[in-house]
Amino acid sequence: MEPFIQSYSLFSKYQTLLQVFSTRSGGFSKAPYNSLNLGMHSGDDKKTVTQNRDHFFKSVNIPKERLVFPEQVHSANVHLVSKPGVIAKCDALITSERNLFLTIQTADCFPVFLFDPRAGAIGIVHSGWRGTAAHIVPKTISLMENKLNCRTGNMLAAIGPGVQQSCYQVDTETASRFDAKFLLADGPGHFKLDVQGTIVEQLLASGIERENIEVDKTCTHCATDRYYSYRRDGKQSGRMMGVIGMR
Ligand SMILES: [Zn+2]
Repeated sequence: MEPFIQSYSLFSKYQTLLQVFSTRSGGFSKAPYNSLNLGMHSGDDKKTVTQNRDHFFKSVNIPKERLVFPEQVHSANVHLVSKPGVIAKCDALITSERNLFLTIQTADCFPVFLFDPRAGAIGIVHSGWRGTAAHIVPKTISLMENKLNCRTGNMLAAIGPGVQQSCYQVDTETASRFDAKFLLADGPGHFKLDVQGTIVEQLLASGIERENIEVDKTCTHCATDRYYSYRRDGKQSGRMMGVIGMR
């Protein structure tokens, strides 16, 4: 079975750009990781995850030796990269190199894809509540402006699926780091938090035009057949992967 993969329409007219996001369909992992689990540190059998990754990268025609993987730690650390490999302690990558494919893995946290077609530069961000509270998306955009001559007026941004507000209860301490308009009271000492709405506001505040922002509002926690969800599946959750690169 071929992996079921999604791309955002905002990027589709750019022939040289490759942007994909995996779902859980079309892989080899057995339950509860069924089936296209791409997370190596998810508790799944590593040989099967390697087989899933090979299948995924082959299906989108990405050379395995041209990938960059951040060792995600829910930080606000952004790295400018120019060659393949693993980057320690970082949750966002940017580059202007062609034939270099930036990856992130998620299961509830939001994947954010950035592209400036004029500057020829891309970025990818893992933005969960911690990264969002620490402004990792605006930091990534600033670094693209400062190091890669990007202009926010030219930039495109897509936010992939993650856990939506209806399914995302947080405590008062977490809630206190977010604007009240992204919180709904949910019983004593608890709130429901809209991380994705916060990211949209951050993109707009950075200067990206609203028509250049695409938002996938699917909830990973609700879409059981399509996505992994850490909040739903806990330690036995697989991971989706987002990839962006310029051929
Ligand atoms: Zn949900």
